[in-house]
Amino acid sequence: MTQKTFTIVGGGPVGSLLAILLARHGYKVGLYEGRPDSRTTNIYQGKSINIALSDRGWTSLEKIGISAEAKARAIPMYCRAIHDVDGELSEIPYGQEGNAIWSVSRGGINEQLLDIGDDEPNITTHFQHRLTDIDFESATTMFSVKDDRELVVKADFAFGADGANSKVRRSAHSFPRFSYSQTYMPECYIELNIPANQDGSHKLDKNALHIWPRKDFMLIALPNPDGTFTCTLFLAYSGELSFESLKERSAVEAFFEANFADAMGYLEDPIETFMDRTAAPLYLVHVFPWSFNNKVGLIGDAAHAIVPYYGQGMNCGFEDCAELNSLISKLDHDWDRIFPAYENARKPNGDAIAELAVRNFREMSDLSGDPSFQLQKKIEAKFSERYPELWTPLYSMVTFSPEIPYSEALRVGDEQNAVMQTIMALPGIEEDWDKPYVMDQLHELADAAFGARG
Ligand SMILES: Cc1cc2nc3c(=O)[nH]c(=O)nc-3n(C[C@H](O)[C@H](O)[C@H](O)COP(=O)(O)OP(=O)(O)OC[C@H]3O[C@@H](n4cnc5c(N)ncnc54)[C@H](O)[C@@H]3O)c2cc1C
Repeated sequence: MTQKTFTIVGGGPVGSLLAILLARHGYKVGLYEGRPDSRTTNIYQGKSINIALSDRGWTSLEKIGISAEAKARAIPMYCRAIHDVDGELSEIPYGQEGNAIWSVSRGGINEQLLDIGDDEPNITTHFQHRLTDIDFESATTMFSVKDDRELVVKADFAFGADGANSKVRRSAHSFPRFSYSQTYMPECYIELNIPANQDGSHKLDKNALHIWPRKDFMLIALPNPDGTFTCTLFLAYSGELSFESLKERSAVEAFFEANFADAMGYLEDPIETFMDRTAAPLYLVHVFPWSFNNKVGLIGDAAHAIVPYYGQGMNCGFEDCAELNSLISKLDHDWDRIFPAYENARKPNGDAIAELAVRNFREMSDLSGDPSFQLQKKIEAKFSERYPELWTPLYSMVTFSPEIPYSEALRVGDEQNAVMQTIMALPGIEEDWDKPYVMDQLHELADAAFGARG
């Protein structure tokens, strides 16, 4: 039997992981990346330089046998460190003791995956090859190469792993019955930096994800192994307090002083950086189908660009790869069945995490506000600790429970919320929340809603 060939467009984290798994299944893979090789050139990737990887990402990497190398360079973050407007610090654990999300360098994990790919004889990687066109019937792709040459590549199958602005996906607009939507979020973001101390140590607790929640906007900081923190400021694009309205230096200074006074001692040139940088947009993309003629598929951000408020975009892309990995074995390399099974399995989960991520902006940005919201979370945490078989908090389902699909987490989370509305409406709940009758009533309601499911 002749060896089947794949073209993968996009050598980001998801494309490079997909290349490895296909090569290990015996396919010959051409991986085509538009940018130069970041391992030999210093290029800004245009995305957050570090990201949080959680159990879904690790489990997916483990299934493909490559988590140990990546985890060795990651920093565990066990809690959210909340910096309130007066500079008071409090901590909210991410889950049960020992539960952590992990700060990893986006470029670093990408390069680790490319390195592993270099050792796979079935993978050939081509940098500075930018996709210009694709034929969805034959999986033939056209690239513009760095010296302006045009290259036509024939393969049996192709995948678009070319990110949120995917050219493969944009080319599919002429495909019959292709559904597409793109929605901009009100917020944009810029990155800021907290440098290391002189001795290379971190200026803030490195085992926490730091959040300065200010309701309509927020600043977050994730640690890097070199002692620095990469910070992201999420702020409205337009409106009274926004990137558009904050143009004068004095207004920017007043904004930082009023909202991030305690961070001002740590941040590196926040005012200059704010004024120099163009804020990047955040948007959601929903499409269907994710595969075309059982020849070409979409994966990662190309299939489901989501907002970063749950820290799940890359986790979800890695899960797409793990799903494909198991379908290839299960369906015995029959791509007429693998493509439909893959999109049917993953599309509902892509939609669910997109929805959850949008909702999570409020959860993060209002962490030190809205007492009733905080009280609800406190009651849920206590109940879940006492009755773990009846109640896993939504955050834990999404982040620490890879066995629960995103779509199931969304559904159960909504049911839990409905139950909690009854509890939150109890007279005197603010004073009584810790009393046994509240737990008893919640137990009764939860048992009726979830108990029978075992
Ligand atoms: C501010 C921010 C914070 C984030 N935080 C988190 C987080 O904490 N946790 C998490 O899991 N996710 C996070 N994400 C999401 C995460 O970065 C993405 O989900 C992830 O990078 C997607 O990987 P990908 O390989 O699908 O796409 P990308 O990383 O976008 O890679 C696509 C690749 O395709 C290449 N390419 C594009 N067009 C072409 C073309 N025409 N021809 C050839 N190559 C092309 C690009 O150069 C790129 O290398 C965050 C995103 C942002 C913006």
